[in-house]
Amino acid sequence: MSGLRINFSKSCVYGFNMSDSWVRGAAGVLHCGIGKTPFMYLGMPVGGNPRCKKFWAPVVSKFRQKLAVWKSAVLSYGGRLTLLNSFLWGGSGEKRKISWVKWEAICWSKEKGGLGVLDLRRRNWALLGKWWYRLGDGREGLWKRVVKEKFYEGKQEVGMIDVVSLRVLQIWGDIIRIGGKSEKLKNMLRHGFRWEVGEGCRVCFWRDIWVGNKSLRDLFPRLFQLAINKEGTVKENGLWEGERWKWGIEWRRERMGCEKDEEQGLGVVLASIKLRKGMADVWRWRHDVEGRYVVKIAYEFLAPEERLLEGQLCNLIWCKLVPSKVGFLGWRLCLDRLPTRWNLWKRGVMLQGEGMVCGLCKEGVEEVNHLFCTCKVAWLVWVKVFKWWGVEVVMPGTVRGVVDFFLWCWGSVGEKELGACMFLVTSWYLWFWRNSLVFRNNGELKEQLLELIQVKSYLWIRNKVNGCVFSLAQ
Ligand SMILES: [Zn+2]
Repeated sequence: MSGLRINFSKSCVYGFNMSDSWVRGAAGVLHCGIGKTPFMYLGMPVGGNPRCKKFWAPVVSKFRQKLAVWKSAVLSYGGRLTLLNSFLWGGSGEKRKISWVKWEAICWSKEKGGLGVLDLRRRNWALLGKWWYRLGDGREGLWKRVVKEKFYEGKQEVGMIDVVSLRVLQIWGDIIRIGGKSEKLKNMLRHGFRWEVGEGCRVCFWRDIWVGNKSLRDLFPRLFQLAINKEGTVKENGLWEGERWKWGIEWRRERMGCEKDEEQGLGVVLASIKLRKGMADVWRWRHDVEGRYVVKIAYEFLAPEERLLEGQLCNLIWCKLVPSKVGFLGWRLCLDRLPTRWNLWKRGVMLQGEGMVCGLCKEGVEEVNHLFCTCKVAWLVWVKVFKWWGVEVVMPGTVRGVVDFFLWCWGSVGEKELGACMFLVTSWYLWFWRNSLVFRNNGELKEQLLELIQVKSYLWIRNKVNGCVFSLAQ
């Protein structure tokens, strides 16, 4: 063994559900102290009630401490979370600034116009779904035995689908009742799993879903009442005659009236089933090609259908050639969530001095379409950029128009990427210039702006593209 030894004088004995005298005895034998719950272990509280807010307070405060340091250290960094803290939900602690984009939408994927920030609730649902999957997948486990004993009342492997209707407490309840959290989740879990029957040893003939999307009990309720073996497996409802499978369901009595129609229906359904001798039954999730439950796929599946921006626009914004901070500015620009003076005024911010006047030309109202397109100063910059690119453009009057130009002007994927890059870099420097004018009254940039745009885009593109396609001179 290694040289690691337990230092008993520094250790404690904790007793769970045992008498104090026993714990005292054990501590005496081991020569160590007696610990009290709750206590911290590896930074996590142990032994309290995890459903209480108080239980998590030390963890939350620890995170808050860490984030406070980190936030000021990397405020300029373009990573998403920092940006969220510093721009979107600006301010820390009690001092709330304007929230520019609703939190929900920020958690949508980038393809849908969000920022792809992890949605903790959705993620938790996706993780809990995994327990559902495991509950049915047939592998043994102590926890499953507990659940089955407790909630299935000792019945043989009953499909997990029924369990939701039972009254269940606490932790198991969280897993078992998760289907009730949202309609989409319920759908994904209740209708997302089904058995692929091999020999039929594990699938419950009446209760499990293994043909179509419903259990046979739901499909043929009258017959279910008549069946003798209601909990039996598929295999128990027939037998092999050599290599041929023959169904043989035992009934309490002869079928009459409507029951005969149902029996006919059942016959048709069963005729389409081919049991496979010696093959195991497999518990499949239909949202994955291989039938396994994948948390990531579940997470995506649970995302809302809505989107904030159309797909092409998202591709343009998150162009791989530029750093994420530049893409992020493009995102805010396309959503019209930049703190232009117009937008600030709309959100009730009192504007000092020049009021809503454009920071670049000091004439127009500083709203996004003016600042980035129709402003005569910005317009000159675009003209120079287009000239550099050798295209002639009638300058569109809206940001959307400029975006469309970059989306449709070039055909190939590579050209589109470069176009996106140009759009983003130019917008970035226009905004940068505007800010240096507004906040530092610094107009020096004017002469260098085109050069800055050219050099920066060249450097960024060269960084990302192997065998760069154009030189700085071009
Ligand atoms: Zn202007």
